[in-house]
Formats: sequence, C-alpha cells, structure tokens
Amino acid sequence: MTYYSQAKFSLSAPDIKHLGADEGIEVAFAGRSNAGKSSALNTLTKQKALARTSKTPGRTQLINVFELDEQRRLIDLPGYGYAKVPEQMKIRWQQNLGKYLDTRQSLKGLMIMMDIRHPLKQFDIQMVRWANQKNLDVHILLTKSDKFKHGAAMASLHGVVAELKKLELRASAQLFSSLKKTFPDQAKFLGKLAEENAKWRYNYYKRLEAMDYSEK
Ligand code: GDP
Repeated sequence: MTYYSQAKFSLSAPDIKHLGADEGIEVAFAGRSNAGKSSALNTLTKQKALARTSKTPGRTQLINVFELDEQRRLIDLPGYGYAKVPEQMKIRWQQNLGKYLDTRQSLKGLMIMMDIRHPLKQFDIQMVRWANQKNLDVHILLTKSDKFKHGAAMASLHGVVAELKKLELRASAQLFSSLKKTFPDQAKFLGKLAEENAKWRYNYYKRLEAMDYSEK
C-alpha cells in the first residue's frame, strides 16, 4: 500500500493556528478554486470521497488535514482566486497561505494544481515564488489534461516549463487527469517526499533534470 492510499481525514482547521503540532512532515496541496484539487487528492489517494469536490467553489475556507501515519500528513489548503469571493476575504486567505508557507517548519513540499487551460495565474506564480524562497520543493499538476488532445497538452506543459524558467522559478510540472486517471509516476513525487527525508531531497533536483516530460 502506498502512503497516499493510507490517507485518513484528521481535522479541519479554520486557520493555520489550529493545524496541530508543527512536527513531522507535511506536503500541502494548493490551487485556484475549481482547479481540480479535491479530485486530484481523491485520485492520488485512491479514495472516492476523501476530499470533497466543490459544488460551491470558494466556499470552503477550511484547511483539511489528512494523516498518512503519525508523522506524515497531506494538507488540503483552501482554494484561492474564486471570482465571487469578496476582495477582503481573498486578501485574508492569501495572507494566511503566505504565512503558512513561510512559517510552517514541518512543511516539506508543495503540490500546486492548475487547470491546464489556465495555468500560472498571478497567485499561482506567487505561491511558487514563496515556496522557492523557503526552499520548498514544488510540483505542478496540470489538471484536466483530458480536455486537450495529447499534442496540445504537451505544448501546454512545455509552455509552463518555459514560463517558469523565464520567471526564474523552480518547480517541476506534469500533465494530470483525474477523469482518465492518467498520470506518470512523478505524481507520487511528493508522496515520496513524505516517505523519506534529506537524502531523497538531495536527489530531487537531479531527478527533475532527468525528468522525461513525454507522458504516454
Ligand atoms: P477544486 O475546487 O480545486 O477542489 O476542484 P474539484 O476537484 O472540485 O473539480 C472542479 C471541477 O472540475 C469539477 O466539476 C470536476 O468534476 C472537474 N474536474 C476535476 N478533475 C477533472 C479532470 O481530470 N478532468 C475533467 N474533465 N474534469 C475534472
């Protein structure tokens, strides 16, 4: 059994102060509302209803914590950027997310879900930037890749990789579809990160360099 499929709901926190002890290892999942984050969490954990897929995007402000074992957790961060949320509330969420990335010691990796049709929006870029500043490993899932034909999906992936480079941001990226359940092993990247420690981390960028973007 992989670590991901061991995931169990642990708690919902209204803000980062209520997340529980800052110890062990956690990997956070972030993304704009409706990016497919809940679906990705369910797909990766092989559980149909671990994370609730959004009927009313932007409504869920809670941070959900899923335990893998005593020392390891997945953190489901509130979706950001939903157009109908009042500006004040949006700013508060964003500040909260920034503070979480900045201060949480147990946070070791960030998985960012982006709809393949609208990648690298302003706040996505901000999230990568914050994570880079904190030396966190970042992996991007270009979700709903089934919406594009293979060639167009690959072009989008290469575009994202090129844009990250231009912005001098460090992150790996891949195509992902919860609908078709197609994703190469790299999707387990950050799960792996939750399994191991500094040794694995040391090899991380080497693996990125060697990463083959040619998803079948
Ligand atoms: P969240 O708000 O980021 O948690 O997004 P959800 O997981 O709730 O998904 C938002 C919408 O996108 C829902 O209508 C999903 O059915 C749809 N969706 C999610 N993943 C996929 C996918 O891989 N392919 C397609 N075609 N639609 C998806």
